[in-house]
Formats: sequence, structure tokens, C-alpha cells
Amino acid sequence: DVFYRELPKVELHAHLNGSVSFQTIEKLICSKPQLNIKHNMTAIAKGQRRTLDECFQVFKVIHQLVDSEEDILMVATDVIKEFAADGVKYLELRSTPREEATTGLSKRKYIETVIQAIQQCKKEGVDIDVRFLVAIDRRNGSQVAMETVQLAEEFLLSSDGLVIGIDLSGDPTVGHGRDLIPALQRAKNSGLKLSLHLSEVLSQHDETDLLLDIPPDRIGHGTFLHPEMGGSQNFVDKVVQKKYHLLCLTSNVKGQTVQCYDEHHFKYWYKMGHPVVICTDDKGVFATDLSQEYKIAATTFGLDREAIWKLSKQAIDYIFAPDSVKQQLKQRWRELQPEFK
Ligand code: 5GP
Repeated sequence: DVFYRELPKVELHAHLNGSVSFQTIEKLICSKPQLNIKHNMTAIAKGQRRTLDECFQVFKVIHQLVDSEEDILMVATDVIKEFAADGVKYLELRSTPREEATTGLSKRKYIETVIQAIQQCKKEGVDIDVRFLVAIDRRNGSQVAMETVQLAEEFLLSSDGLVIGIDLSGDPTVGHGRDLIPALQRAKNSGLKLSLHLSEVLSQHDETDLLLDIPPDRIGHGTFLHPEMGGSQNFVDKVVQKKYHLLCLTSNVKGQTVQCYDEHHFKYWYKMGHPVVICTDDKGVFATDLSQEYKIAATTFGLDREAIWKLSKQAIDYIFAPDSVKQQLKQRWRELQPEFK
């Protein structure tokens, strides 16, 4: 739909390897035929659903396909251009640095390569401002988390504002957030912005409490925060006070933490007037894009075009880049705003 495609958008929750498109996966499959990977192992098609556990298996398959500097450069460049083609004007990409002995990839090189992709796109004049969050995979424990933060700190100082924060993600059923608090606290103290996945599954209440109290600068999913989903008013109050929340519709439905679009917690937060930002999470794995997610929100929750416009514009207030970037983006939105009847 043209309106949604042309709608200028802000994407604040996109995992690099979950965002790899069908076309890019095709190139990777062709370059590594010996792995014998099929498309249905890397993406969840329309109408299909998987358990959260199965979703995390999908990421492992993609990681097999993306294991060298060359792959990361291609994947990151393609993903950035695809978001730009979908009308995204500001993108915060997040990715977990990996080392691969077979290809000589180091975590430092991994981050440098993503930065290189961002700079290359900028040089080519791709119309999108991209920033990078270094991700901690909770599966890897406290020591790796601390090392990741230290690495991110170096890039915070040397990347000209491109590396701006830390993401905590990975299988929410593995490990406990308590072990990661020292690393996250350190990140916060050194000026890295904190975006945390939390309350993605029920039964994480003590963890949710700890993570919310850091406090993070933004949270992702928060599916089970509110009382109707088994959360608590206390959680809701903390989130409202801090004004942060990113929501991914299709990701939650396909990963089965939410039963259907209609029951998505978007409704709860939106109705109470709490600012929410619609995001894709993993546009490749969940076979979607940000235009489509806005359209789904509009049709599911009965939002007219003006309300959708407001939603996309309001997202600017929650970006991690400095105020000057917010002002530039607001100016773009003013220039592009259509007439609403
Ligand atoms: P990468 O960090 O390799 O660029 O992107 C894939 C990784 O992002 C996954 O291995 C996982 O750690 C994280 N990820 C992607 N989607 C989700 C999600 O919905 N929830 C959580 N907790 N982590 C995710």
C-alpha cells in the first residue's frame, strides 16, 4: 500500500541477522551449497507460526550462513538499503558480535564491518540515518556480557556517533538477567544507551523487576508486563514513568507469545496513551517489513491515516541519536506530511 510505504518511518528494533531478506539469503545459500540450507529454515512464511524456541533455531541457521567479514558486509549493506527502500529514514540496527575461527572473524572486526556498511551506504547517498547497538546474547553469560560492553565502550568513543548503545537479547528462557546487571550497569555509566528485551515470556517477574530498576533507556516487547497478561501494575507504573516501549506485532504473533494480532499488547499501551513505537524485530525471519507492520496496526486496531502518521512521527522522540538528529528528522516529517481530510 503506497501510503504505508511512503510514510516516513523510524525503526528502532531490528536485529541484523534476523532482518536478512529472502534475496540476500538466496545469495548466501548459493555461496555455501555444502550447508544444504533451504529457505524454509531461515524464515517463517505468511500464515505460519513457530514456538519461540523454534525461532531461536532459525537464528542459528542464519548464523551458519553469515560467518565471515564479507558476509556481514553484504548482509548489513543489503539490510540498510532494504529499510531505506521501505521508507525508513532512521534505523537503529543491533547485532551480536561473533568470532569465527574458520574465517578469522573477530568480535572487533564484526563491529568494524557493520560500521563500514553504514559508512558505505552513507557515501552512496542512501537516504537513511543508521546507528548501531552492540547486542549481548544472554545465553553467553556474565563474562561475555562484560567483554561486549567493554568493546562497545571503545566504539562509543571512536565510531563518530555510529555505535550508541547496548541491546540485551537472546533466548529469554536461558539464563537470568541478574547475572548481567553488572555489565548493563557499567554500560549505562559509560554513556551507552540501554535497550533491553524484557518480559517476553511469562515467569520472569523477578528478572523484570531487576532490569526495570537499572533503568534501561528503552525496552523491547514487554509482552507480559501489564496485569491482564499476568504482569503487575507496578511494572506498568515504572514503564509509564520512564516512557519507553518498542513493540513488534508480527514477531510476537509468529513466535506465539501473543495469540493473534487482535490480542497484541499494543492495544493496552496505545489505549492508555503511552508512547509505543512499532518495529519489525526480524523482518527477514518473520517475512515482513515496517510498512506492513504499520498497516497491520491500522487495520487491527482501527487507526486512521492521521493516527498512523502521529505514531511514526512520535517515534522520533525515542531515538538514541542526539537532539540535533531529532530536529532534522522532525523537519523531514514536516516536509513530507500529506493533507489529512
Ligand atoms: P544478530 O544479533 O545475530 O544480528 O541477530 C539475531 C539474534 O538476535 C538472535 O540470535 C537473538 O539473540 C536476537 N533476537 C532476534 N529476535 C529476537 C527476539 O524476538 N527476542 C530476543 N530475545 N532476541 C532476539
